[in-house]
Amino acid sequence: MKLLMIIMSEYTLESIADEIKQCTRCDLYKTRNNPVTGDGCKTADILFIGEAPGRNEDLQGKPFVGRAGKILDKLLENIGLDRNQIYIGNILKCRPPGNRNPLKNEIDSCSNFLDKQIDLIKPKIIVTLGSFSTTYVFEKFGIPENKISRVHGTQFKTKDGKLIIVPVYHPAVATYDPNKIFDLEKDFETIKESLNDLD
Ligand code: URA
Repeated sequence: MKLLMIIMSEYTLESIADEIKQCTRCDLYKTRNNPVTGDGCKTADILFIGEAPGRNEDLQGKPFVGRAGKILDKLLENIGLDRNQIYIGNILKCRPPGNRNPLKNEIDSCSNFLDKQIDLIKPKIIVTLGSFSTTYVFEKFGIPENKISRVHGTQFKTKDGKLIIVPVYHPAVATYDPNKIFDLEKDFETIKESLNDLD
């Protein structure tokens, strides 16, 4: 059914990726090496959304391939998941210079790509990695409380009950503060419980 809806859609993940490669809606295209369009299983039940590409992602054109990516892979492995079972996208598709925070105009210019990716993938669970992703997704689905320090590791449902959202700390926090890995491990247990709830 999901596959049929993907086939019938007016756009595909590939056509969105092509659009992203041509995009000049904000200035980030001028300084990036490669856009990071997203990667993983096109029919995944679970969609992970990060903030923006970093240096390694910008060089390779793939999400979470640097230090934060290694932490993410380990956290996924802990709960029995690997990248072939999930899709990973970002709010911004191009790297902000020096890894600075995304600007509002950049999010406004770029978020329609993510919206289309969500429409196409039709995940049952969205995991928001860190505060920018959590704020964006919570606002999009009308969930009021979105401060990451308060909501991380908690399961939320959209009003229609069709989508579970699990905000977690961004894996990069464990590169600054090694103790944060314990919070991340707990957050990822909530993802596992949410997956079990689907069965
Ligand atoms: N951090 C993110 O938020 N996204 C990436 O793709 C890599 C690091």
